[in-house]
Amino acid sequence: EPKGRPDFLSGLNKQQKQAVTHTDGPLLIVAGAGSGKTRVLTYRIAYLLQQYKAAPEQILALTFTNKAAREMKERIQNLIGDKAKKLWMGTFHSIFSKILRFEADKIGYGADFTIYDTNDSQTVIKQILQELNFDPKEIKPKTIHNKISDSKNQLIEADTYQDRFVSSTLDDITARVYKIYNKRLKQSNAMDFDDLLVKPIQLFEQHPDILEKYQDRFKYILIDEYQDTNHAQYKVTKLLAAKYENICVVGDDAQSIYSFRGADISNILNFKEDYEDATQVPLEQNYRSTKAILQCADSIIKQNTKQLDKTLWTDQDYGERITVLENFDERDEANRVASHIQNLKMKHGYKNNNFAILYRTNYQSRVFEEALRRKDLAYQLVGGLSFYQRKEIKDVLAYLTLLVNPHDETNLLRIINEPSRGIGNKSIQDLIKQAREESSSIWNIIQNIEELDVYKPAKARVREFVDMINRLRSNLEGGESISDTVKAMLEQSGYMRALVEENSHESMMRRDNIIELQNAISYYEKGKEKPSLSAFLQEISLITDTDKFDEDKPAITLMTVHASKGLEFPCVFIVGLEENLFPMGARDNFDVDIEEERRLFYVAITRAEERLYFSHCRSRFKFGEEMRQSRSRFLDEVDAGVVQTETGATISQKKDRFENKSSGDSGRDMDYDWKQAHTKKTYKSPSATIHYDYEDGEDPFQVGTKVMHSKFGPGKIISRSGLGTDAKVVVFFKNRGQKKLMLRAAPLQVI
Ligand code: ATP
Ligand code: MG
Repeated sequence: EPKGRPDFLSGLNKQQKQAVTHTDGPLLIVAGAGSGKTRVLTYRIAYLLQQYKAAPEQILALTFTNKAAREMKERIQNLIGDKAKKLWMGTFHSIFSKILRFEADKIGYGADFTIYDTNDSQTVIKQILQELNFDPKEIKPKTIHNKISDSKNQLIEADTYQDRFVSSTLDDITARVYKIYNKRLKQSNAMDFDDLLVKPIQLFEQHPDILEKYQDRFKYILIDEYQDTNHAQYKVTKLLAAKYENICVVGDDAQSIYSFRGADISNILNFKEDYEDATQVPLEQNYRSTKAILQCADSIIKQNTKQLDKTLWTDQDYGERITVLENFDERDEANRVASHIQNLKMKHGYKNNNFAILYRTNYQSRVFEEALRRKDLAYQLVGGLSFYQRKEIKDVLAYLTLLVNPHDETNLLRIINEPSRGIGNKSIQDLIKQAREESSSIWNIIQNIEELDVYKPAKARVREFVDMINRLRSNLEGGESISDTVKAMLEQSGYMRALVEENSHESMMRRDNIIELQNAISYYEKGKEKPSLSAFLQEISLITDTDKFDEDKPAITLMTVHASKGLEFPCVFIVGLEENLFPMGARDNFDVDIEEERRLFYVAITRAEERLYFSHCRSRFKFGEEMRQSRSRFLDEVDAGVVQTETGATISQKKDRFENKSSGDSGRDMDYDWKQAHTKKTYKSPSATIHYDYEDGEDPFQVGTKVMHSKFGPGKIISRSGLGTDAKVVVFFKNRGQKKLMLRAAPLQVI
């Protein structure tokens, strides 16, 4: 090490050092998984600070999750101390919403604008569709929203949408809705997720002076996971970097997995054209995984035709081969994965947080949760219905949003009669109508509710509501703490009282959730020098799935492969490796992007450090019906030399057995008793969230009963197995033959 070099650089290899110390000018790093791309970004920021190349507030680092930004900040703090706190780090959405808040007035917004999540956006669209006399059951708000969102991300505005796309009725409707939707959001002083990327571009293009201010502010720009940026993200960073061109992007084309959300792999491919004097540094040593895991990953990704050439090697041991688990069904799969985890903990001393179970879709998590609970293994579920999406939480947040932005129509309509305070739907429709006529917000017009044309008794109720919101607002403005305001709001709105009066299990859970939200608010308040309700609301509206993942928690992680990007675990289970599940939709849908599914599989494999398991089921319950599943094609693409069965036989030794799928059970492992695994499933699910309609054996679906199925028609139950949520029946249908059905889910009726 030459003298004077900061000693933290000794934690880097030669290529990494080169990338870190190449401070000025555009820099592109395209490198395989686990090669230290994220580490290079972290060290590069520390180095810039240490070399006084920039003040912390002049460095902008964009990450894929807020959690990744937080962690990076902590590491930088460890390397160079407290000045790391002032860095601008976060997701595109959180960084640009911050900038928009400063500059809101320049584009006709108030600084306290609300951020609408997908759900809110769809509510607005549904309302518009109704006003245009379309049936939201026929024209799905979700479909329209997707189209609008895609357009925004490609920077196609409402006016030009018409010229670009109108070729079908749906596009025609989208074009109409798109314009009204934008207007409605503006009137509500609200932006949707996509606006957070699109509005800054408009801001910068309309106000060159403001653009220049931010160009000067962000002397260095760094972007992680660049392969997953979309067109708007590309454009906004290009604008910001145009003056100094100190832009460093890192990514891996093989890990591009968000094209369904508009991510554009060409952003990485075109970097060298956009910045002619760009330097490119390769990173070739993988520090994460064993040789076996890397070899496995490599054998998969090389099946894709469109990949950039990259080298990836490791000096780690060969390690364990990848174990393939072949299961009877999804319950069997969950139980076996849980048993393997128990064994690994016992034999090798792994801790719960060394494990991740990765699946393709969120709904797969439920059986794993049950199996882990039964074995008393702690787990954390990342994703799924988030806390902040629960009805009661969204309600309370709607009230709080009104306190900072009362013009927000979606949130106002959400709670104007929640809890029920005698403002009927007809009165609400009248209010909406009059607001439209006056091109004003509902909040504005209800200030003079007495003069409006509304059912009289409702007027008094609206008045009380308006007065309450105004009172709470002025208290908050007068300096009342956020938590006191929330407490007063919950009392005065009657929201808590309604829950207590309902006094059901469900309403008590809702109450507990609200108390949990109050805790979160107090926690936020204590941690900030200048806490503001508006900033708090913004922060939580930008929480992403992965942000909730806590690697120090002593728990097994359950998450989708998408959410696992950038993370690493000693032991990884990739489950549900079946056609039409992973890869997704390959059978039904011809235009499914199989290369993207394969990249997703590559991402999953490369999360593993030491041990990797693949698992698939021979059958799976779908829509209440048992379906035969075929092995994922990916299992056949894997280098046969690196995989083994549970008994340790290599797949090449057993290959003919696997290929001989049609010959019934002969392809099973000898030490695994299928029959036993199948018939012994008599446990009762301990899950409290599952609702039992009948006690076991007491429901009417006994052998011999005649039944009607909504799809298969009439039939008769010829056998029955399993208990509780596991109960299954075999029905002989007059027209469709024999089917095995899960009672819990099958649309069956006794006739
Ligand atoms: P991904 O493509 O999955 O995002 P990545 O390229 O960002 O991976 P990192 O997460 O930065 O890779 O690094 C992978 C692991 O290797 C981390 O645990 C990191 O700390 C470690 N690592 C990287 N470089 C070195 C090094 N020079 N010495 C020791 N460990 C390293
Ligand atoms: Mg990374």
